[in-house]
Amino acid sequence: MARADTMKAMILPEFGAPLRLATVPVPKIGPNDVLLRVRAAGVGLTVVIMTANPGRVTSFPRIPGHEVAGDVAEIGSEVSHVKIGDRVTCHFYLTCGVCRFCRSGRETLCPASPGNVGMASDGAYAEYMAIPARNVTAIPTGVSDVDAAVAADAIATTYHACREEARIGPGDFVLIVGAGGGVGIHAVQMAKLSGGWVLAADISDDKLAAAKECGADALVDVRRGDLASQVSKLTGGRGVDAAIDFVASRETLEGSLKSLARAGRLVIIGSRPTAVFGVDSNFTVDPRHMLASMLEIHGSRYVTLTEIAQTLELLRLKRIRAIVSRTFPLERAEEAHELLRKNALIGRAALVLAH
Ligand SMILES: [Zn+2]
Repeated sequence: MARADTMKAMILPEFGAPLRLATVPVPKIGPNDVLLRVRAAGVGLTVVIMTANPGRVTSFPRIPGHEVAGDVAEIGSEVSHVKIGDRVTCHFYLTCGVCRFCRSGRETLCPASPGNVGMASDGAYAEYMAIPARNVTAIPTGVSDVDAAVAADAIATTYHACREEARIGPGDFVLIVGAGGGVGIHAVQMAKLSGGWVLAADISDDKLAAAKECGADALVDVRRGDLASQVSKLTGGRGVDAAIDFVASRETLEGSLKSLARAGRLVIIGSRPTAVFGVDSNFTVDPRHMLASMLEIHGSRYVTLTEIAQTLELLRLKRIRAIVSRTFPLERAEEAHELLRKNALIGRAALVLAH
């Protein structure tokens, strides 16, 4: 059956505007691209932030969405490593593939990157999306579309953070700040899988209960008092070997840093642009404390495509579970965004597309 020339998509018509449903042309692909028939798209804070933080979206109207599971519907003339019908997910960064960062497994630092999928190119809130073939990786049999879409960012991000930045080993005390959120809830599981004893911090009963259900060893209710003193109590005064902060406000960053044991690692993943959240998240570091305890502060920027493939394998082996609390049809994307703005979503949400 011939494919229609047009498709349904949720478009961001201009900066700061709500998304609206539109009928737009199916994207055309270049020789090194693939066209995906979108099955599911993850919905996370990154999309909400990009609609309100200047500079991320390069032109309007734009179709957001970068956590995708879809079938390959068409391949460019130069593409040989995927074929029509393959089920794939994708890497969120558009990269050059040849610079020193791209060639050393640090492609999220590519200085030639034009930006991200769903911001510098149209994304997955649509029936079809075009993407460079270099960005896609196969979804193993047995992993659902929704789980695979969420794996591409919300789960894979924690794989890199736990393994490469926090360097969690057996018996390490690990603090997860924002443990009930879309990425944090998977970090609780990944830190456990890495051998950590996990302290989960959050600010609602539902989110703390979800973190507990995902294996957290101790809960820190930040409404009940200072983060660092609660961590100190729970670790017998020792502090944590790693703190991974998905909130990254001034309060949580300073609290996380104060919670570190000697040689501890603070890993920053959250991002709270002042333009979106209305408050400055710059925080204070005591250099003498850094020196005396040989502390480390890491920024953890997404993953490599290989790490996405490894994450999908963990899902296939059921070593980790995708926590998706709500799904919506494409045209109700704004409803999911509103829940995110209100911090009222446990785990991830996803759009499921009917074709
Ligand atoms: Zn590059």
